[in-house]
Amino acid sequence: AKGEGRNRFHYFTPSMQRDAKHRMRLIQDLRHAIAEQEFELYYQPIVGLQQNKCLKAEALIRWRHPTRGLVSPIEFISVAEETGLIVEIGNWVFQQAARQSAIWRDRFGVEVQISINKSPVQFRDEGECFDTWVSLLKKLNLTNNNICVEITEGLLLDGNEAISATLERYRESGIQVSLDDFGTGYSSLAYLKRFEIDFLKIDQSFTRNLDSQSNDFTLCEAIIVMAHKLGMKVIAEGVETEYQRKVLADAGCDYGQGYLFSRPLPSEEFEQRFIEVRLA
Ligand code: C2E
Ligand code: CA
Ligand code: CA
Ligand code: CA
Repeated sequence: AKGEGRNRFHYFTPSMQRDAKHRMRLIQDLRHAIAEQEFELYYQPIVGLQQNKCLKAEALIRWRHPTRGLVSPIEFISVAEETGLIVEIGNWVFQQAARQSAIWRDRFGVEVQISINKSPVQFRDEGECFDTWVSLLKKLNLTNNNICVEITEGLLLDGNEAISATLERYRESGIQVSLDDFGTGYSSLAYLKRFEIDFLKIDQSFTRNLDSQSNDFTLCEAIIVMAHKLGMKVIAEGVETEYQRKVLADAGCDYGQGYLFSRPLPSEEFEQRFIEVRLA
């Protein structure tokens, strides 16, 4: 019977076999990580380009694996999505971010809106989790735009009445919505008029070459003008150089995010560099 079991997988090449094993191991480890709370949120400043001040933060998940060290979300989010584990992870992210926002407000008296990334998979059983989220926000007194949810274009694509209703409920509950990685996916401008979106995040593939390629600059400029006319604010991702910052600020971009300002930081470090400083 043992041999049979092995034969059933004979169509796997050695490298695929390793991949399947790797994947199973990863799933096991992820379950363990959820139970043992091995995740952490790092925070990256989102800077008001006209004020030159950190006004918001994006929460980015990190996994402190007991033997592999800090693991990037790029390595595990897609598997978490495929297995549905993202729902539990996403609920943890939300709670952690909400508590952090309340702590900063209570400790320093400043409101820092925290953005969290929400996978399309998490919208499938929206009803239940949404109510839990909203009651935590109410309990923490965070219903005034303290939390922003970043979604991707794919969600709006299969997006129908249900998604539109969900985004409407967000608005009513004081949660803002960002459209992440704008311009990369199955972009369709039609959904910009159909859905209530507060921020457009220009993907870093457009900001990256602002220095050299004037086409990318033209696109950024056009996105900014369009977003403003539609009543949205614009966040440019991947701002790495002073030149990019200046070009974007001059084009009227509202916010910038990127290594020029800071990499994502553990909460204490974010606090020291961007909240205490802001008060001083
Ligand atoms: P994203 O939402 O587009 O996040 C921005 C990514 O760009 C982050 O990578 C950030 O560290 C990186 N970044 C920021 N500034 C710069 C820059 O100036 N240059 C460059 N080259 N990169 C920059 P990270 O933290 O590795 O996250 C990767 C992706 O993983 C995220 O892309 C997001 O899609 C996903 N992700 C992260 N945290 C979560 C989470 O809590 N839930 C879900 N569902 N997805 C998450
Ligand atoms: Ca994001
Ligand atoms: Ca992004
Ligand atoms: Ca992305």
